[in-house]
Amino acid sequence: MRMTQQLKHRVRPNNIVGTNRDFFDNIRNTKPSRGRSYLLSVVILCVGITIGYVCLPSLLLSTLTSKETPSNYHPDTQDNYRSESIPTVTTPIVMKTHRLVDGKRLKIMVTGGAGFVGSHLVDKLMMEGHEVTVLDNFFTGQRKNIEHWLHHPNFSLVVHDVTESIMREVDQIYHLACPASPPHYQYNPVKTIKTSTMGTINMLGLAKRVKARMLLTSTSEIYGDPKVHPQPETYWGNVNTIGPRSCYDEGKRVAETMMYSYRDQSQVDIRVARIFNTFGPRMHPNDGRVVSNFIIQALQDKPITIYGDGSQTRSFQYVSDLVDGLHALMNGGYDMPVNLGNPDEYSVKEFATYIKDMTNSKSTIVYLPKNQDDPTQRKPVIQVAKDQLGWEPKVKVEDGLKKAIIYFQGVLDEAGEIIPTGPGAAKPKPKEEIISSI
Ligand code: NAD
Ligand code: UDP
Repeated sequence: MRMTQQLKHRVRPNNIVGTNRDFFDNIRNTKPSRGRSYLLSVVILCVGITIGYVCLPSLLLSTLTSKETPSNYHPDTQDNYRSESIPTVTTPIVMKTHRLVDGKRLKIMVTGGAGFVGSHLVDKLMMEGHEVTVLDNFFTGQRKNIEHWLHHPNFSLVVHDVTESIMREVDQIYHLACPASPPHYQYNPVKTIKTSTMGTINMLGLAKRVKARMLLTSTSEIYGDPKVHPQPETYWGNVNTIGPRSCYDEGKRVAETMMYSYRDQSQVDIRVARIFNTFGPRMHPNDGRVVSNFIIQALQDKPITIYGDGSQTRSFQYVSDLVDGLHALMNGGYDMPVNLGNPDEYSVKEFATYIKDMTNSKSTIVYLPKNQDDPTQRKPVIQVAKDQLGWEPKVKVEDGLKKAIIYFQGVLDEAGEIIPTGPGAAKPKPKEEIISSI
């Protein structure tokens, strides 16, 4: 009796009956018998299981459902998005991705996806709602080009060199990995050759094993210093096999050869794009290409450097046009090489004046020695792309340049000063030169 009274006193200190507080006070203040302690353990276990397995998951599910699947959600309409990229300095807006049903969502690998062209292609594929894997060794790629996707559930980054083989389950491979600007690809010519040859063969092996469709980004450089102008896909080119550009030109030529050998011998489903000079935001400010160099020089009122007499010509396309072309080629039925470029042709001298005027620059124009084997003319014939893909460039060079100028102004504001890469500047210096400069 005494014991029961003592217990009563302890159990109900405030004489409050049937509340949660009561329950937890009970647990804290009593020294229960073995039977009660067993009962309590069971109750705690049941409560734990209920919270862990039932309440929390339903709470999470309801949060996700309200955020990602609105009540009017239908998996196949353009109106339903998942906004999960993060804003960055280079992509200040949140990118909105489409949500695809399982049967339509592809596993797509983009080699070189952290580079200039690759990162824009990744944006398009991600926004369409596909699962995208970027495979890149960051030789010329930049993490900031893709950082807005790093937390997206559909995005994966694999830091990997394409000269090494890799196993991956994929439906499509966009094979872009390869340095593209002359100073970058001439920096380590042997590596450039390995990237184009071993890298392409590794990707073809993968495509063959998993039955993926593979697109190679070849180049107008396979036409060399062309004797036919403008260049149709049927032109075989004029390439020096042992010049400073040959590591890139011949690398891409043999990569094309491998694509067609795998198609004919092993039925690999292939696509080949021959890309002409492309420009836009996310070009590497030190890649030494004509567009980035001229804009960066002009914005800083530094001398604009023309190599040779400036009579050589190039045709420039804006990056979004190229991305649309690559996408149309990959998803169309045509498997022969296709030129992707804007036939709007300029001499380098004209182009220098054009950029000087657009930037309102006080730069002078200076002439430096011509680079060996620098093609004297380049302009694509794009009839095949028009006929087979229904593609042609939409962005005027002037409009594209305006966007590129804004981009490089931002890069300059961040960096303070940029000294553009000159001819041969990226080449490793001979040992004696390094020692004497110390
Ligand atoms: P880029 O240098 O910006 O991008 C190339 C990417 O490939 C980079 O991210 C780089 O880190 C990566 N890479 C290089 N070697 C690699 C390796 N061994 N393993 C893994 N990753 C590697 O160049 P870009 O302008 O974006 O060019 C992309 C593709 O388009 C290239 O194949 C290039 O040959 C082709 N292309 C571009 C142009 C152009 O004007 N931009 C013209 C013709 C062809
Ligand atoms: N070029 C130039 N000044 C520069 C950079 C490039 O005159 O600062 C010339 C280069 O010699 C070539 C053209 O511009 O004739 C295009 O060069 P880029 O490196 O952009 O690409 P390419 O078409 O040669 O691969």
